Amino acid sequence: MSVKKKILIIEDNEQNMYMITYLLESNHYEVIQSFNGMDGINKAIKELPDAILLDIQLPEMDGYIITKELRKIHLLKEIPIITVTSYAMLGDKEKSIEAGADGYIEKPIDPDIFISQMEEFITKKNQNRRK
Ligand code: MN
Repeated sequence: MSVKKKILIIEDNEQNMYMITYLLESNHYEVIQSFNGMDGINKAIKELPDAILLDIQLPEMDGYIITKELRKIHLLKEIPIITVTSYAMLGDKEKSIEAGADGYIEKPIDPDIFISQMEEFITKKNQNRRK
């Protein structure tokens, strides 16, 4: 791998943040952490990550609002956004896509398939962009 891909994680739960960071770093990704929406949006603008992993349930701004805000920013229009939704919350997936996300990964995260799930969305997004 030539250049490390940079992933911004916006997640308020320390344990999930720890696990997602661990999985990404052990797969040669660079990780930027953010624990709330406002900070996450600022970091997205500053760092221009290759993808954003976004928790839906966050204090103050939820993941849908954050997705919509990110999509309003010209520089971030094409960045893959993958939401992390809770399995129990019906409608989260549809609402994520409506808000402008490219895909969703259900919690609890399965460490064995997490990276491939994420990469699939990033690849799909990049292919669509080239059409
Ligand atoms: Mn949360």
